[in-house]
Order: sequence, then structure tokens, then C-alpha cells
Amino acid sequence: MRIDTLRQRLRELQALPVHEQRVLRLWAQGLPLEGGRRKLEHVLPRPLWLALPGLLDELQRLAVVRSIHPSPSDGSSRLLVALADGQTVESVLLPRQGLCVSTQVGCAVGCVFCMTGREGLLRQLGSAEIVSQVTAARRQAPVRKVVFMGMGEPAHNLDNVLEAIDLLGTAGGIAHKSLVFSTVGDPRVFERLPRERVKPALALSLHTTKPRLREELLPRAPRMTPEELVEQADGYAKATGYPIQYQWTLIEGVNDGEEELDGLVQLLRGRYGVLNMIPYNHVEGLPFRRPSWERAAAIARSLHQRGVLTKLRQSAAQEVEGGCGQLRARSLEGAQP
Ligand code: SF4
Repeated sequence: MRIDTLRQRLRELQALPVHEQRVLRLWAQGLPLEGGRRKLEHVLPRPLWLALPGLLDELQRLAVVRSIHPSPSDGSSRLLVALADGQTVESVLLPRQGLCVSTQVGCAVGCVFCMTGREGLLRQLGSAEIVSQVTAARRQAPVRKVVFMGMGEPAHNLDNVLEAIDLLGTAGGIAHKSLVFSTVGDPRVFERLPRERVKPALALSLHTTKPRLREELLPRAPRMTPEELVEQADGYAKATGYPIQYQWTLIEGVNDGEEELDGLVQLLRGRYGVLNMIPYNHVEGLPFRRPSWERAAAIARSLHQRGVLTKLRQSAAQEVEGGCGQLRARSLEGAQP
């Protein structure tokens, strides 16, 4: 379901615009249905709130947390979320009231190191399903930041993701810079984001400074060179005042050599942004290796000394079935006869 459809349904229930906004706000803030109903009784005309519970039940079914997998070490929890048609996606509750959400079931970019990319694209998520991951998570813990970095490439589902961002940044009460649009880089993103009412922060997955290697690692990403991507992202950073989060999955023997580090210094020194370096999480059946933490730390230190603001990070809840997509894959294996 799209939020547009929901607005239409509310109009059919004869909600005046002001009531429509109230219903959307209660939903986007993830208020429990019962509490929400009680509030609705106070703010809506009686015929309207009597008609609403069916709709609210339907909204609750859009995304249901099927299981919760807390990380023993970093305070995050990986959530397996069931959609109304039986498909599943993953969300991750992050430390400091953050939530990572999925935007597609599967993904068409096909990054060779990613479990989600192996499935291809199964379907898009509607904007209401994206917001519903937040409302469902808000019943587990407070959420003040949402990163669109789970399963899927947000640029391939742009209308729905931007619609969800708009609602979360208004009725959902999340600060615009705390909504983080993550992409492999796509001309449509650089064109649309600056025109939006709610402008999110931007995370750009670089992974390499070499155009040819990028085509191998991210085979179906738009053909933009790392220079072009950084140029466009830097323009957005200057326009919004939010630093870009450059993402780099560090893979032993693939993108951790001296040439890459020299390339990074050339590309990012003096840019308004931060390089998030994340040692690769092993995926069963794939040939890529994770570098040691000591080696990754030495690389991050050396980049920092050479003028690139670099943060070394673990990906959240990595002990829980490793990287994104693996929990869903395990649940599907479990579901097979
Ligand atoms: Fe898609 Fe992201 Fe996986 Fe690449 S890393 S295949 S963009 S989900």
C-alpha cells in the first residue's frame, strides 16, 4: 500500500484534512492501536473513528515483527519483519535510537559480496510498508533516526522511498538530517533529492575508486565513475549542509591495497563528508574475506592522517546471521519442507 492510497481511503471516510493529518501522525509515530484508538476518540468525529479500526488493523498487518535477534555485543537487534503477502524483510534497531529499514524485497544491483543481491529483485515495498517498519519498531523501542540501508536499493524504488521520507519527516516527527538515504549512486537521486520538501542526509556506497572494479563489484549500478559520484554528492552536501557518509565495505585483497588508499585521498580529501569503513561480513558460499580488525584500524588511521575523515565501524548486529539478507535467507531455509 502507498501512503497516497491511505490518504485516499481517509478521504473516503470523510476525514477533513486536519483529521487526516492526525490519523497519519498517530500511525507514523507508531502509537499502539489501543492507545491510538483512545486518542482518536478525542480528536475525530464519531462516525470517522468508528470506521477507522478496520483500516488501522490493516495498517498494522503491513509489517509485523516476526522475530527479534539481539546482538550480544553492540546493543543492536535484527528484526525479521513479515509483510502482508508473506514476504519477509529485515530491519535493524541500532544503538542510540536508530533504525535501519528495507526498501525492497531482494535487490537488482547484484553486488557480488551481498546476500540480498544474490536473490535479484522480488518486489518493491510500498511507501506504507516502509513507514510500517518504523511504526512496528517503535512498539519495541524509541526511534529518532531512520537509515534506508537495509535490503534493496532506495534509488530503484524512489517514489515510494521519498513518500515515506516525507511522512516520517513531518507527521513521524523525525529530524530531516536523521533520515539517511543510502544509495550506490544514481542520477535520479541527485536530481530529485534537492527538490524534496524533506531533504534527507545522503550515504553513498563507493567501495572502490576504480571504475572498472566498481563495475565488477556492483554489476548493475548506474555507470557513473567514482569521481562523478563524489562530485554530485558533494554538491548535495553543500546545498543541504549535511556531510555525506561515504560507505566502504573493506574486503581483503580486493579494495584494501595502497592504490585504493591513494585514490581515496585524492577523491575525498577536502570534501564535506566522512568515510565509514566497514570490514566485510563473511557470507557463506562467497569467496570474499574479512580483513583483521588491526589491519582495518591501521588503514583507517593512515587515511585519517592523510586528510580523510575516516571512521572504522562494525556493521550492526553482525553476529546475528552476519550481513543484511542472511536472516531472511535462513528463515526461508527453515520454511522449506
Ligand atoms: Fe543491493 Fe545494497 Fe546488496 Fe548492493 S549491497 S545488492 S545495493 S542490497
